[in-house]
Amino acid sequence: MSEGATIPEHGRSATELLSMIEQAHAADIDWRGGRAFSLVYNVGDHVHEELLEQVGVKFLHDNALNPFKYPSVLQMELDVIAMAADLLGTAPNAGSLSSGGTESIFLAVQVARDHNRQVRGIAEPTVVAPETVHPAFAKACKYLDIELRLIPVGPDGRADVDATADAVDERTGLLVGSAPCYPYGVIDPIEDLAAVAAEKGILFHTDACLGGWLLPWWERLGKDVPPWDFRVPGVTSISADIHKYGYAFKGASVVLYRSRELLQHQFFWYDSWPGGLYASGTTAGTRSAAPIAGAWAAINHLGVDGYMRLAGLVAETTDRFRSGIEAIDGLRVTHEPDLSLFEFGSDSLDMDAVGDVMDDRGWNLDRQQGGLHLMVSPFHAKIVDQFLTDLRAAVADHGESRGVKATYGGIA
Ligand SMILES: *Cc1c(COP(=O)(O)O)cnc(C)c1O
Repeated sequence: MSEGATIPEHGRSATELLSMIEQAHAADIDWRGGRAFSLVYNVGDHVHEELLEQVGVKFLHDNALNPFKYPSVLQMELDVIAMAADLLGTAPNAGSLSSGGTESIFLAVQVARDHNRQVRGIAEPTVVAPETVHPAFAKACKYLDIELRLIPVGPDGRADVDATADAVDERTGLLVGSAPCYPYGVIDPIEDLAAVAAEKGILFHTDACLGGWLLPWWERLGKDVPPWDFRVPGVTSISADIHKYGYAFKGASVVLYRSRELLQHQFFWYDSWPGGLYASGTTAGTRSAAPIAGAWAAINHLGVDGYMRLAGLVAETTDRFRSGIEAIDGLRVTHEPDLSLFEFGSDSLDMDAVGDVMDDRGWNLDRQQGGLHLMVSPFHAKIVDQFLTDLRAAVADHGESRGVKATYGGIA
């Protein structure tokens, strides 16, 4: 753990290494204390956390590359896909488990490209998406050499249906909407966007990486949820991260399709190798079995009643954050959020400077171009009041901004 590290000449003892790690890890973000907002989705339940740890350890060394050597892992994977498909309204075998939202999106874009080439005869299909769409789409388009057209959103932060329809041309292969988008927590008008796509035979992807495992419960709680899943006729694929509001540990997401035929474009078969037939369903070869087992355990441990309880808590906590923030003079929520995340900013205050004071007080708010970003986990119910006290103090007394830029992700 130093600059320019080299492999030690002599191996170090487990005790020494664990103590080094312990020390270094102490400087990492304190998510168990409720001080992380989008990196970890903290249930705040030791039983759930310990269950996932035990399950993860059990499968830590296993390789899901060849599922037929691990009938248990294969069954858990099929179960997770079927449960997700049932939740979002498609066939139980019309999807895959992937390592995360980025991979799910990558796969959906690749499927759309190949479907357009093979079925619609479009050699170079393009993707059209609102500018609030997750950068994973730009990344997938870069890797897959696809043109991405971004459309400015309306004043409410939602995709502009007319502008999207105007941007569609004979090369458009995929339209995208988010449920909700990350920056503002608003749901794009999926029904209208998907209708534009369906009318022209274009595929439509709902990016529900965030909302996929929360919106179904939100709806059952009686909240107003505009349609976004496979009940909308034009929606042909959906990404939904289990490692966010599914409360599994990292490395688990699903990508689902309206039909098994679409999913087939994702599969890779290769029989020209001396090593034998190589078949693979997602981008990875060797795959950790731990996140598969972890996702299966998380979903089964929580169940519908557990997810409903947590959704209720998240909803209530979001309201507390929101009304508390709106009661502070000078602060406002920038776009009316549909779910448990939002941006808040100010017309009069230097929000970067406010963010600096919050950093000094140990909070780790994500900074955006229009202000600060808040993403609510169940555990945050316990820290709302302290947070608001610190925010009031930061607004009342802050100096010049230190010039920290809006960031999301990073490169080592
Ligand atoms: C998190 C997220 C993604 C990407 O998922 P990763 O798991 O970080 O790869 C995509 N879209 C939205 C809306 C997200 O919030």
